[in-house]
Amino acid sequence: MRAIRIHEFGEPEVMEVVEIPGPEPGPGQVVVRVHAAGVNPVDTYLRSGLYTITPPLPYTPGADAGGEVEAVGEGVTGLSPGDRVYTAGALSGTYAEKTLCAEKQVFPLPEKISFAQGAALGIPYGTAHRALFHRAKAREGETVLIHGASGGVGIAAIQFAKAAGLVVIGTAGSEEGERLVADQGADHVLNHHDSGHLQAAHDLTQGRGLDIILEMLANVNLGHDLPVLDRGGRVVVIGSRGTVEITPRDLMTRDADVLGMSLVNLSDDDRASIHSAIREGLETGSLRPVVSRELPLAQAIEAHHAVIESSTHGKIVLVP
Ligand code: NAP
Repeated sequence: MRAIRIHEFGEPEVMEVVEIPGPEPGPGQVVVRVHAAGVNPVDTYLRSGLYTITPPLPYTPGADAGGEVEAVGEGVTGLSPGDRVYTAGALSGTYAEKTLCAEKQVFPLPEKISFAQGAALGIPYGTAHRALFHRAKAREGETVLIHGASGGVGIAAIQFAKAAGLVVIGTAGSEEGERLVADQGADHVLNHHDSGHLQAAHDLTQGRGLDIILEMLANVNLGHDLPVLDRGGRVVVIGSRGTVEITPRDLMTRDADVLGMSLVNLSDDDRASIHSAIREGLETGSLRPVVSRELPLAQAIEAHHAVIESSTHGKIVLVP
């Protein structure tokens, strides 16, 4: 089968398309025929070799995919060949025509959700749900600022938050991004490149302050987020690409919390509750993944440049 392979860490150009043998499922494993593979920022961090985790070389990148079950191993009872599925994690990488998964990494994909949309679910929707409900313990009627709402995680967070009855303020960095955030149902849209946008977010709460901030770029924003929180406010650090200075008194005076999160830390129960919420949202229509670009597998290099360097307007997926 055709697959992207990485033989050494480095720039996007280390990725190449190669022919390798297709995977065979062992006990408890599932082979998924990939129709679309999601491109996530973490794929680029892993490829660089500078992340906290370094995969053993050579490897095929990718955790998210939409596709169909090709074969199941002994003991797999919940899935059968031909089932439409999405993956949230993979044993052999999803930037390939087929990927090998543990059964617990594979979930049913409703008919009305395309394979490309299925490739936008695992990491983005898993992260958004984890941040809002497991970490921030979001409640109906609260106000959430999604700081970076135009990307994969941000769009998922808008949809989950609106379905749960929160007031949503979303930010983007371009006009197209702002339109997308509004279209997803955000009550208010701001541009994170405007210097007054956090004061504007504070003003939108009638001066009370924000209950929750989901932060996609903490190294830039965290120090400025804390003064616009309400008492008891929570910031969930989802993304960060460096260090940041904060004023601890901003937390003390508000009894506020800064919460970290990494999907790597999910227990099996956490994963089950997240994917049951995703399934329900897909079925009711409250969750609608947005795919901005579908690129052929051979353009993985371009996809990695784009996910880090360009303004975001939804998800980039690779089509094998
Ligand atoms: P993405 O699709 O590339 O989106 C990035 C988002 O960040 C866009 O909305 C972008 O807006 C926004 N952004 C850019 N500059 C910003 C600024 N100064 N302030 C606020 N937002 C800004 O990435 P993603 O998949 O949504 O992931 C978002 C971040 O979370 C990434 O850093 C990723 O690595 C991280 N993440 C962490 C976990 C975890 O387990 N902790 C899981 C998934 C993702 P514009 O492009 O419109 O400017």
